[in-house]
Amino acid sequence: MAYDAKVSEQRVVDEFVELVRIDSPSHEEAAMAAALEAKLSEMGFVVANDRTGPSTGNLVARLAASSPGGATIALNAHTDTVQPGRGVRPVIRDGAVWSSGDTVLGADCKASIAAILEGIRAVQEAGAPLPNLELLLTWGEEGAHTGAKALDTAGLRSAVCFTLDAAAPVGTVITSAPAYHAIKASFRGRAAHAGVSPESGINALVAASRAIARMPLGRIDEETTANIGLIRGGTGRNTVPELVEIEGEARSRDNAKLAAQIEAMTAAMREEARRVGATLELTVTPQYQAYSLPADSPAVVMASKAIQRLGLPVRLAATGGGSDANEFNVKGLPSVVLGSGMVAPHTLQEHIAISDLVLLSRLVVELIAVAAEEGK
Ligand SMILES: [Zn+2]
Repeated sequence: MAYDAKVSEQRVVDEFVELVRIDSPSHEEAAMAAALEAKLSEMGFVVANDRTGPSTGNLVARLAASSPGGATIALNAHTDTVQPGRGVRPVIRDGAVWSSGDTVLGADCKASIAAILEGIRAVQEAGAPLPNLELLLTWGEEGAHTGAKALDTAGLRSAVCFTLDAAAPVGTVITSAPAYHAIKASFRGRAAHAGVSPESGINALVAASRAIARMPLGRIDEETTANIGLIRGGTGRNTVPELVEIEGEARSRDNAKLAAQIEAMTAAMREEARRVGATLELTVTPQYQAYSLPADSPAVVMASKAIQRLGLPVRLAATGGGSDANEFNVKGLPSVVLGSGMVAPHTLQEHIAISDLVLLSRLVVELIAVAAEEGK
């Protein structure tokens, strides 16, 4: 049975537009955190800021259950955006909210924040039972989920967490995400005049490019990908390049496959550096770990129930991207990522349909309803 809680389209759109107008590029999130602390306090939440970030911290906001029983759940979204994300001027066009075209919109993840606030307000207004709620609003998600990494989850009471942060239709439940390793390599050869004494040079660019050419890259298999995304080096057309740096990554939902992929990439670099006599400095940095929740785990079951109450098909999916859920799962808080309806995040074409903002708010209502009924 669905909750008789009415989501307000006007209110969620107004609030979303208000939030995207607050600049919050990663690590400059103080204004956003302050605005949310004020809103949440007004709604009756007790808000703690763990001050773990450079500009602010993670907000952990708690709302006590309105009646006994039910499961404590966490709802998670992040307060930062990617660049270009300053001075966002939202535009409503064709039933959707867009940026004015020179910035991202910030629906990633502010559409989710607006929907979480709206869903909870609708339940409060309807006087429907509220379970214990914990909102985890994290800083610095973009890049390496730094805020979620810093969050101390030991004090949380939630049995499960719903991370509203997938660029997928509402109704999507991400149950599995890859581990991610970043790779940085410096090839050092020897500079020489390219016309006068090329024999005395060691071309670092040749070593790096040969290594890249022989690495397996792109989609390696269904659950493994790899990329070289950056190359820099050389000082001039007429100089044998002494130093070349490359940066890349590999991801897999299978730890053994990830290890094999990293080995293939680093072996190619070592081999080609040796062939030309260059030295190689190599750093492989694990950024986050993989997770996979079975279809019968409580987080998946609860999310699926809530989606079905909206009359939507449930789509369980794996992703190639990471999110705060990677960190929470590692810390022992089972988390799934839910599709928010946002489209083309991290681009100037990012947008979200108003109907999806409303649908996402209604999903929050149903997640609350499912949690409130848990164990009853
Ligand atoms: Zn996001």
